[in-house]
Amino acid sequence: AGALLGAVAPFAGLAHAATDTRDHGAMIADLLRRMNVTEKVGQLVQLAAGRQKTPNSKLDDALLARVRRGDVGSLLNAAGADALHELQRVAIRESRLGIPLLFAMDVIHGYRTIFPVPLALASSWDPATVRAAARVAATESFVAGLHWTFSPMVDIARDPRWGRVVEGAGEDPYLGSEMARAQVLGYQTEDPRNRDAILACAKHFVGYGAAQGGRDYNSAELSDQTLNEVYLPPFHAAAKAGCGTFMTAFNDLGGVPMTANVDLVRHLLRERWGYGGLIVSDWNAIRELIDHGVAADDAQAAVLALKAGLDMDMASESFATTLAASVTADKALLPLLDEAVGHVLLAKARIGLFDDPHRFGDAGREAAEILSPAHRRAARKAAERSIVLLRNEDGLLPLRPGTKVALIGSLADDKSSPLGPWRCRGETGDVVTLKDAMESSDIDVTYHPGVGPRDAQADTIAPAVATAKAADVVVVVVGEDYDYSGEARSYTHIGLPGHQTAMLEALKQTGKPLVVVLMSGRPLAIEAALRGVPAVVQSWFLGIAGGPALVDMLTGKLSPAGRLPIAMPRDTGQLPMTYAERPTGRRAEPDLSKDSSRYHDVAIGPLFAFGHGLGYADFRYSGVAVEPRGDAVRISVTVTNTSDRTAEEVVQLYLRDPVASIARPVKELRGFARVPFEPGQTRSIAFTVRPEQMAIWKRGEWVIEPGRIDCFIGASSADIRASGSFTIARGGNGRDP
Ligand code: BGC
Repeated sequence: AGALLGAVAPFAGLAHAATDTRDHGAMIADLLRRMNVTEKVGQLVQLAAGRQKTPNSKLDDALLARVRRGDVGSLLNAAGADALHELQRVAIRESRLGIPLLFAMDVIHGYRTIFPVPLALASSWDPATVRAAARVAATESFVAGLHWTFSPMVDIARDPRWGRVVEGAGEDPYLGSEMARAQVLGYQTEDPRNRDAILACAKHFVGYGAAQGGRDYNSAELSDQTLNEVYLPPFHAAAKAGCGTFMTAFNDLGGVPMTANVDLVRHLLRERWGYGGLIVSDWNAIRELIDHGVAADDAQAAVLALKAGLDMDMASESFATTLAASVTADKALLPLLDEAVGHVLLAKARIGLFDDPHRFGDAGREAAEILSPAHRRAARKAAERSIVLLRNEDGLLPLRPGTKVALIGSLADDKSSPLGPWRCRGETGDVVTLKDAMESSDIDVTYHPGVGPRDAQADTIAPAVATAKAADVVVVVVGEDYDYSGEARSYTHIGLPGHQTAMLEALKQTGKPLVVVLMSGRPLAIEAALRGVPAVVQSWFLGIAGGPALVDMLTGKLSPAGRLPIAMPRDTGQLPMTYAERPTGRRAEPDLSKDSSRYHDVAIGPLFAFGHGLGYADFRYSGVAVEPRGDAVRISVTVTNTSDRTAEEVVQLYLRDPVASIARPVKELRGFARVPFEPGQTRSIAFTVRPEQMAIWKRGEWVIEPGRIDCFIGASSADIRASGSFTIARGGNGRDP
């Protein structure tokens, strides 16, 4: 069985210390010998046990009968300790071989205690916060009886017309890799004594975020360069962190659907990376190979997926209905079937299902720990750290004590949207909105809903304006409700839906200082609407505790330090975009306004750049020092908080290889640190860069080219405060980053 399972990436932690192929190989080989072909196929079948929105759906008898026959390996969308214990009991006691079931669910940003959406969490630029959020989600899932979450989504997204941008970490492969790793370690844990580990799932392998035109499920066209340097690194980071499972993507890449992609799944992920975890299809994606036009029927679709290296069929039943007959007719498929079954059994063994299937799910702990005060505090802290202050002219924020505030916009009072898409077991009653939080603070506030994104009428604008006129400062919440982003939520224009722009214009006419709080699951393209607005806050969907976190930020109890993980465009027509673009032959540095590779109707570049975000303190950067450290270099910078308040700064390191055999991006993030500062404090911040981090993907290999590398350190990709350079003396082979 050892050979069958192939190379296995070491599992970071997971509940049991003894978790590698060696320990489970004999048991798995023994099981494989005793299984008939139908039972083997059964292990590869994942069925839905109810829709996510119906809690603890009653299990129907037909499903139980299939579990008894050993026709099911995994279920998704069932939860609750008691229900899952009962299901597991049927699998273990009443099926011939007693193989336990694997229970999965989309626990994306919290199980019941809902955290900020993943794009917001990435805005914290703080892997520790992201890891802590995943840990809470895993604990709640574990006590509810789950083994496996379909998270993290590590798809790079550079076109926010794509609604699933909300589920990822934004546009950058380096930030994305750090966030991927943090989430995997949060779900699975590193400490073998931690019994609350669940399996993570890196999805959607690969290129899903590159859907052309930002249209969900659309084909992706990626050069080998971009695929390897931009879209694959977060997946590699997840695999290296020990991610127990991967999910393939819906899309095709250059005509080859990922569900049937031998080159990328079998050759790259399995063979080159040595990935030994479980690979599951996306929902119904094996059958969709027929719709893609690469399979004539379920039988052909199933064989294509198996050959590509997929182990488990989520929901399509192509495996269930055809694979046994195909394997009987073509004995050459048997080793592939055994290999897939081996991966499923190994995943079950690694989380301890063969040792103690009942340690998952604990009704007592469910009652005590789900939505516990400690979990709520973690959600609040994560929300505080995810807020991005985009603009703050004339020090409008923080609000002075005693300011009379008009709070406008129905999103301020929307208890559903802060939960975002994929809210799992989150409930609107758990949410403290901005309106709730302001009204229970000592702010003197009057609220008017004005218009929300879906209001057809504009007649509530006038009374909102009247409310604004009676106040000193107007805080207006506009943007999208949660249902504008997420799966199958693509838009051609990512502006302010409905009459919200008209409301903003009317509020500007009052002459009152305006604070715009943007609620959305994507960066919006609203340059014109924000013109003349002195303060702008990006709040995303902040989870259950977003309201109080925003109040603390608006009143200055905390200094915001979130940063954009994706650029905010000026106009939808600029998309896709990234700061890490290649220089064209027409780039005019340093005066980029002379660049002739530009649109004539929109200013160059984004409205707010990748990495941008303000706080209430000011920082001075000085003295970049670059010193060799063995093969690596240590790059340090001195940063001083010149203000009289405690605050954090996110120090960002960008590198550029100015002359290479393949043109390199004008800047690439290669280090960042969110650092706390006391008033007036000076700190030295250091980054270590290894030559591999500058490797270039060239003819199927990573290559390090000798020469000068420029370093830029700053407060965003567009706000470089200090620079230096170093030299890579010797070239050579790199390795997968
Ligand atoms: C999504 C996946 C998700 C799965 C299961 C699919 O439609 O693309 O991200 O994990 O459904 O709910």
